[in-house]
Amino acid sequence: VLLDAHMPEMDGFTLAGLIQQSPELAGSTLVMLTSAGLSGDVTQCRQLGIRAYLMKPVKQSDLVATLLTALDASQRQAAPPPERPALAPGAPLRVLLAEDNVVNQRLVVRLLEKQGHQVTLACTGREALDAWERDNFDVVLMDVQMPDVDGLEATSLIRVGERRTGRHVPIIAMTAHAMKGDRERCLEAGMDGYVSKPVQPAELF
Ligand code: MN
Repeated sequence: VLLDAHMPEMDGFTLAGLIQQSPELAGSTLVMLTSAGLSGDVTQCRQLGIRAYLMKPVKQSDLVATLLTALDASQRQAAPPPERPALAPGAPLRVLLAEDNVVNQRLVVRLLEKQGHQVTLACTGREALDAWERDNFDVVLMDVQMPDVDGLEATSLIRVGERRTGRHVPIIAMTAHAMKGDRERCLEAGMDGYVSKPVQPAELF
């Protein structure tokens, strides 16, 4: 759950507290968005068991890195939120890579495997959906432009399917276009993050 700290009516901290108390939601990984310079926020995040926090305005690369770190940390039941996004040398992640471009496939697979992560490759959106049905993944890296089912559509279908299961797999979009509307379209489709291609190791982790 990505929470804004300061919201009208109920702020992010109150909401985080309620999530932690709810039997169904207590296992959720929480990441807080805070405004710069409010050191009380950090203390409150710690007290509430929030895995990580990000200063606004949020940079794409920081968001991706923080989400990956937070999810990794929650898997290992590790304690304090990271001071800044860093590659957690923890448990290997099961990654579903949906990408139709062979060069990009090789690049990303090599990057991930070098870090000890386990990669399942899908060459089309349809294959990605099949793999998602078959297996549980910790994170999905989704190319936006693919033949048959594209990344946005595949993401929407996964999110619809998840209403049955109550799960939420983090989906990170990979796109060749650094166009402004792209980010919004990805988030609208239910993606959690966004990196632009060619994928830079520093951005991915
Ligand atoms: Mn493509």
